[in-house]
Amino acid sequence: MLFKNISILDENFQIRNNIYLKTEDEIITYIGEKCPNQNQDKDKEEESIDGKGLLLMPGFYNSHAHSPMSLLRGYGEGLELHEWLNKKIFPFEKTLNREDVYWGSLLSMAESMSYGIVSTTDMYFLTDGLAKAVLDSGMKANISRSVSNMSQANPHDDITFKEMVYTNESFQGIGSGRIIVDASLHAEYTNDEPTIKAVADYAIENNLRTHIHLAETEREVIECRRRYGGISPVELLLRNGVFDVKVTAAHCVWLDDRDREILRDKKVTVASCPVSNLKLASGICDVNKLFDEGIRVTIGTDGASSNNSLNFFEEMKIFALLGKYKSKNPARMKAEEVIKSATIDGAIAQGREACGSLKVGNRADIIAIDIESPSMNPRDNLINNIVYSSSGRDVRMTMVDGKILYKDGEFITLDIEKIKYEVGKRSAFQKM
Ligand SMILES: [Zn+2]
Repeated sequence: MLFKNISILDENFQIRNNIYLKTEDEIITYIGEKCPNQNQDKDKEEESIDGKGLLLMPGFYNSHAHSPMSLLRGYGEGLELHEWLNKKIFPFEKTLNREDVYWGSLLSMAESMSYGIVSTTDMYFLTDGLAKAVLDSGMKANISRSVSNMSQANPHDDITFKEMVYTNESFQGIGSGRIIVDASLHAEYTNDEPTIKAVADYAIENNLRTHIHLAETEREVIECRRRYGGISPVELLLRNGVFDVKVTAAHCVWLDDRDREILRDKKVTVASCPVSNLKLASGICDVNKLFDEGIRVTIGTDGASSNNSLNFFEEMKIFALLGKYKSKNPARMKAEEVIKSATIDGAIAQGREACGSLKVGNRADIIAIDIESPSMNPRDNLINNIVYSSSGRDVRMTMVDGKILYKDGEFITLDIEKIKYEVGKRSAFQKM
């Protein structure tokens, strides 16, 4: 594919105009001001897109989500996290089968690509359905089966642990690497200490990344300190070796200085989920304190059950605004910094090194933004417009590994009417 005369957000977060960008197979092979050599094979006409009114930028890496939870959109409103989980979410989740998870995940894949997301760090169960949805949609995901076990029995006998192992053995690296399997602990408060240790050991032995919920609510931290003689969830995970592999820790709202030191020293990535934290009234992650420690911070939507959308533009803006608010400094959360969290840092956190920026040799995970739209004008500071003025409506194209999945409102790989019909039959409102 050749994009002609197009604006791009380059790897240094600079806007360049009148650029030619070429992709071959799944790779970006040319970025420059001159038109590259056309294909030698005259019979094979090269596909091209006229870039007038469009800006290319790297797609977004959603750092924390539960894709099947689109089935629960709008269900169980008005409850705080623990009540919400125990009274609404867990009872519905007991009814789910593989097909439900497949259709719910497909709806999230459709929504994600329409908002410019190219890859998602996902956590759920019935991962066959999730993996199939990712493959069928053409998207990328780090999937994981989260372990939850409070039985005090041997963790290796627990069904969730066995399913985590099954997920790794069945789906690691499939779809030409589009799927990466991570280890996963659901959270400190849903696991006993032997299970936390067992998941950490499994991740170390198999060289896996680990995805967890961490310090999401004040109650989680208070109860952990009560159970474990005063130590925080971060300290508990540290002493069990969880941070001895690369970890993405979602939320991290309730941290103290010692916790931040640990996350810094162990190079943990924090996936901030500002909308979910606000909606469940869990609190506000102090992103600038993490940035000041040199901790990598990425952005997650969380599930559509607690957000309730996967609109990554909304997520970026609220992430930025809360950072300004918490620091009491409007100069913080520069647009470049926010886009870095949303793109290249998210890709690094997923272990996708050749992704997340428009650079020759990188994977072509690219989105096109309509810069003719009213909210993108005037165009003197397009980077600021992307974070603070644009909305998901401005996404014109989403490309993953060089393949266009979404263009001008059309879902190329998905039958969206069929997906809506199937999800409509299987939603929490229909079943409960
Ligand atoms: Zn979550």
